[in-house]
Amino acid sequence: MINNLKRNDKNITFCNVKNQFPIFQKKLSGKNITYLDSAASAQKPSKVIESIKNTYESSYANVHRGIYKLSQIATDNYENARHIVAKFINADSAEEIIFTRGATEGINLVASCSETLLGEGDEVIISTLEHHSNIIPWQTVTKKTKSKIVEVKPDEKGNIYLKDIKKLINSKTKIIALPHVTNSIGSILDIEEICFEANKKGIITLIDGCQAAPHLKIDVKKLNADFYVFSGHKVYGPSGIGVLYGKKNILEKLSPYQTGGEMIDYVSIQEATFAKIPNKFEAGTPNIVGAIGLGAAIDFLTEIGMNAIYEHSSLLTNYLEKQLEKIDFIKIIGNPVQRLGIVSFLVKNSHPHDLALLLDNRGISVRAGHHCAQPAMRHFGVETTLRASIGIYNNSEDIDFLIKNLKDVIKYF
Ligand code: PMP
Repeated sequence: MINNLKRNDKNITFCNVKNQFPIFQKKLSGKNITYLDSAASAQKPSKVIESIKNTYESSYANVHRGIYKLSQIATDNYENARHIVAKFINADSAEEIIFTRGATEGINLVASCSETLLGEGDEVIISTLEHHSNIIPWQTVTKKTKSKIVEVKPDEKGNIYLKDIKKLINSKTKIIALPHVTNSIGSILDIEEICFEANKKGIITLIDGCQAAPHLKIDVKKLNADFYVFSGHKVYGPSGIGVLYGKKNILEKLSPYQTGGEMIDYVSIQEATFAKIPNKFEAGTPNIVGAIGLGAAIDFLTEIGMNAIYEHSSLLTNYLEKQLEKIDFIKIIGNPVQRLGIVSFLVKNSHPHDLALLLDNRGISVRAGHHCAQPAMRHFGVETTLRASIGIYNNSEDIDFLIKNLKDVIKYF
């Protein structure tokens, strides 16, 4: 353990974490950086930056194909990253880990490969609170296969319950694709009980873990999801790399998503046979350095400890929500049983974009917009929101600074 979580009424902070992120030693336009947009993308610790730099400086080559030493080292490091990911999410084996460009590609891969699982009239359940990445790939495949999307609606507070999903399940339900934590309001779904129910009925489950993986210990065996996706850049790794976990027996049955080099066994001009998983799903030269950087990010998180990270994230999210509630004219969007990492809100008589700009002038990065979740916005009766989200480097001082400046800028409206 390299860090301790300090917490009392005035202070929630990880000791010795923020200082491992070089960006926070810098100033932007003469101001300290108060970064509250980790749900969009997280900053990178030195460990990740160094691992990328070291790979390019001393162990870079293409993977899997070279018999020379440099290629073997690069291959070992790339495959080691796969093992790190497998251990991180408690997969049975590294074969179940497919490197993708990110969560979006992981979902597209599964949706596209599901063409053979879906027939006319079949149903795919998704929720109102999806990120667009977990809506549009399903629109494409259901249109192609003449199957359809069935929407499970959250309650007015933003909770999605198994009891409502159960009402929609019938003999035509083939896939359930849901977020672990929603990106619009940070509500947590009970994925374990949802997957338990789906498994009983032979329904395939895909869980979008983009907003969960940075904050929670993911145990795919315990969750028993068939597929689980997340993005490297949100867990303090590089962008352009992501993870698709799939159960071995299901991955083995699916046809490849893309074809080309790396994913083959035997090729003639007319025919080809494919490599075993995971290579079958990794056509072309992969994001070698991205995967190695992701491995370094996961090592970094593991050293801190995911239980401590969860505690920090929950405490700080709670603190953020409580401090926002105290300000007049602020309306917090949704009121789920538990929120993790994210709070969306509006300020009376002001547009989120104007507020985000004024806060930016004071060195505070928060998100304004629909957060790639337009159906979710409509559910809450809004077009856009301000969204503050937290990472392991944030502390209660960052929240206090946001609150102080929010109070200041609100005076302009
Ligand atoms: N799902 C959720 C819940 C997300 O928050 C995001 C990123 N905002 C995505 C999917 C898409 O991730 P990426 O853009 O990294 O593929």
